[in-house]
Order: sequence, then structure tokens, then C-alpha cells
Amino acid sequence: MRALAALLLLLSGMAQAVTQEQVMAGAVKLYNKQLADLRASYRLDDNQRFSERVAAIAGPLIEQAKRDYPESAAWAWELHTTSDPEENASAMAGGKLLVGSAYVDRLELNDAEIAMMLAHEICHAVLLHNLREHEEAIRLEPQWATRPYEELEYATDHDFSLMRKLASFNSLQEEESDREGMRLAARAGWKPSALARFFRKLERHSYSPNFGSIYHPAPAQRARAARELAAQLEAGR
Ligand SMILES: [Zn+2]
Repeated sequence: MRALAALLLLLSGMAQAVTQEQVMAGAVKLYNKQLADLRASYRLDDNQRFSERVAAIAGPLIEQAKRDYPESAAWAWELHTTSDPEENASAMAGGKLLVGSAYVDRLELNDAEIAMMLAHEICHAVLLHNLREHEEAIRLEPQWATRPYEELEYATDHDFSLMRKLASFNSLQEEESDREGMRLAARAGWKPSALARFFRKLERHSYSPNFGSIYHPAPAQRARAARELAAQLEAGR
């Protein structure tokens, strides 16, 4: 009987745990706010040629993602660009993408390198990395399960104590997006060694290529891993 009570308590706790629907609804609000701010400063989709170039590369990658991760076929995927120099590339839950033209210009990315950058971001979305991060936060600090989701969503981006605890988990998610992103883009037809050059450019443009940030592994390490995976994929392994 006591075991049953414990099980029911566990299930009720799980019922309060975060869901992908909650994460996607939160992402829509944040994304729309970000777009509204960029629009207000005339920096949303403000370079038509760049927007068209990115959309032409992203389209087939998103179609590939929908085939490989069927849950994502029902999502309202969105892609926008901005000249905001602060923006590099990002994906929110549910396939909400934003790409910065200044970043692409700075790194002088060619189309294959843009494909790798986009595929990495697309994989954050289809691998449900935001949901997984929030689940990990609840595992680390169980009190979050009883708090409103919006507070947890805010804390994972602003609470340095929680962010530090999540750093190694998020770093693994970054590595997963690097790997699965390359596999996804390769399935969509891109040559793996051309995709891997994106990471070489990241490494070259980094002030400290041998040091990682709070979330990302060191650029030199990412470039090495990408070269190795590309060689494997091209050898048919
Ligand atoms: Zn990432």
C-alpha cells in the first residue's frame, strides 16, 4: 500500500513535469518578442538577398528533419534573418530559427558552412534540447517541478547558479547537435568534409580556440570531432 502511495506521488510529480507543448508555447512567445524588437529597430529580414540565400539552404534541411524526426513535421517551422551584429544563429523549440547576416559575413561562410550551421540549430530543435535541459534542471533542483514553467524557462537563461550546474549537460547537447547536424545535412546531400569546414572557421575566428565557453566545447575540439566524423561518413562508416 505504501509502495502504491509512493508510486502515485511519483506519478503526480511527473504530471507536473515540463512538457514539449509547454516548451514550444514558451518559445513562441520569446521568438515573437525577439522578432518584434528586431522589427522595431528595422533589423528583421532586412537583407532580402541574404534571407533568400539562407531560406534556400534551410528549406531542404527542414524537409529532411521532418522525414527523420516525424514529430517535427507538424511544427510551425519559421526562419528569419537579421543584420543585428549580436545575433549569430539560434533555434528555439518547435523550429523557430534566426540567423544573423553580420555573423555569416564575419565568418565568410559559404553555402555548405551555412548548411552546417543551420543543421546544428535544427538538431537542437528536433532533439528537443530545450525540453531535455528543463528536465535536467528539475532533476538537479527538484523544487522546479512545483514552480510555474515560465520561472524555470527564465532561470535556465538567467540564473547563473543553475546555468553552471547545467553547463556539462548542455555541452553534451552541443556536441550532439554538431554530430547529428552533420549527419542530417549529409543525408540532405551535403558533402561531410565541406560541412566540417564550418567548424574550422569557428576555430580560426575564435580568440581562444582551445577553451570552451560555459556551454560550448572548445572550438578546436569541435573542429577535430567534425573532421573525424566527416572522414567516417565519407568512408561509408
Ligand atoms: Zn548549439
